[in-house]
Amino acid sequence: MKVVIVGGGAGGISTASNIRKLDEEIEITVLTRDNKVSYSPCAIPYVLSDKIHSFDDIVMRSVDDYNAKNIEVLLETEVTAVDSKAKNITYVKDGVETVLDYDKLVLATGGSPFVPPMKGVDLNGVFKIRTLDDGKQVKDWAENCESALVTGAGLIGIEIAYAFKQMGLKVTLCEMLPQIVPRSLDPDMARIITDYLISEGIDVVLGQPITELKGEEGNVKTAVFEDGSEADADMVILATGVRAELGLARMAGCDIGRWAILVNDRMATSVPDVFAVGDCVESYSAILRSNTVSQLGTTAVRQAKTVAQTICGKRSRFNPVLNSMVSKVGKLEFGAVGLTRSFAQQNSIKAVVEKVEALTRARYYPNAKPMNVKVICDADGTIIGCQIIAEERVAERIDTMTLAITQELTCFELSNMEFAYAPPVSMVTDPLVLAVEEVSKKFNY
Ligand SMILES: Cc1cc2nc3c(=O)[nH]c(=O)nc-3n(C[C@H](O)[C@H](O)[C@H](O)COP(=O)(O)OP(=O)(O)OC[C@H]3O[C@@H](n4cnc5c(N)ncnc54)[C@H](O)[C@@H]3O)c2cc1C
Repeated sequence: MKVVIVGGGAGGISTASNIRKLDEEIEITVLTRDNKVSYSPCAIPYVLSDKIHSFDDIVMRSVDDYNAKNIEVLLETEVTAVDSKAKNITYVKDGVETVLDYDKLVLATGGSPFVPPMKGVDLNGVFKIRTLDDGKQVKDWAENCESALVTGAGLIGIEIAYAFKQMGLKVTLCEMLPQIVPRSLDPDMARIITDYLISEGIDVVLGQPITELKGEEGNVKTAVFEDGSEADADMVILATGVRAELGLARMAGCDIGRWAILVNDRMATSVPDVFAVGDCVESYSAILRSNTVSQLGTTAVRQAKTVAQTICGKRSRFNPVLNSMVSKVGKLEFGAVGLTRSFAQQNSIKAVVEKVEALTRARYYPNAKPMNVKVICDADGTIIGCQIIAEERVAERIDTMTLAITQELTCFELSNMEFAYAPPVSMVTDPLVLAVEEVSKKFNY
């Protein structure tokens, strides 16, 4: 069997590795327009801030490593066409066009950063960040700058803004909505992070779309906001979201949903023998029970496992998503899973919500840090969301809540669950238990 995979990012290259783990005979070809495979875009902000010293350190494997596993990888190769009836693709490498047959095709084409329609986006010094080369160009340009503006205050925007601050730049982080991280955090939780960013010297501008970028001699210099105010910007990062790359899927005849390629829970598209994974597909939301997008490295890697098992004839299902996320800026970790209160309300779900401030260690133990936990339940007490901010131990609790939501636990059930405890690492009553106990009080149970 011949498997052709378009895309060498988290989705594509993990699909290749997973197939090889299950089957030594299948012919596998991975094609990517990038000049590297197997690197972590998630680590780019930490190379900018010098926490990780070189972009080379975030490349985990080379083409030779894959060749040694009998996986062919074609770099700097553009796939230009898919013929799903003849079962072949066309690619161009070094100016030469080649047709390649497949038995199974996996589209792992990812997404492209969204470029907002504003004047001046084509000036020098305006960047999108997606690939390793994007990261290198940004780092080179930033070294000759005094100020930087990041537009879009989602996870990537915040991480990059903080990295620029670490590089010694004057930084403005702006978001057209009235809060940062609007997809994952409610305004009260987002405020804690905003205050922290401000305390670290970052200018945070909320609720103000940029109307224009102005330049001098072709280089960006100033951003103009809707209210007429301006911010210095020797460079601008567009972190305004990702749009799925759908050209090849459309050519193949795949059904496309509201945002991306439609796939079933085995990652099969509507076209026989064509599969898709990663940022280019829609996922099914465990809570809303409708499609959503989950453009996360973790989702791409899990989907890659499912598609590999499917192709190798194993039973596998991709579970609905909860979009659990975690990030760290400076000393603050923050994470979220499931729905925010605002999102629940927009979807006509009556949300019962409580927030507590607990501690990360026993009260008397040195360096116990505040931990803010917000829990969102539906009208029956079933947990549907959680947001946590603290200086330590956020990720493990987000994972616990992900499990609780997946198992459809109620706040009453979680409040009786067993949690491990020792003074240096937790409170005798875990912050999660304190939070669900508080929300339980709002029910006549
Ligand atoms: C700065 C940054 C930080 C992030 N941080 C996190 C994080 O902390 N946690 C997390 O879970 N996620 C994070 N993400 C998101 C995560 O990186 C993506 O969700 C993940 O990379 C998606 O993988 P993918 O394989 O679907 O797409 P991509 O990694 O975008 O790969 C797409 C591939 O398709 C190829 N391609 C597309 N079209 C063609 C074509 N026509 N011909 C040839 N090749 C083609 C591209 O060259 C590329 O190799 C971050 C992303 C960025 C940019």
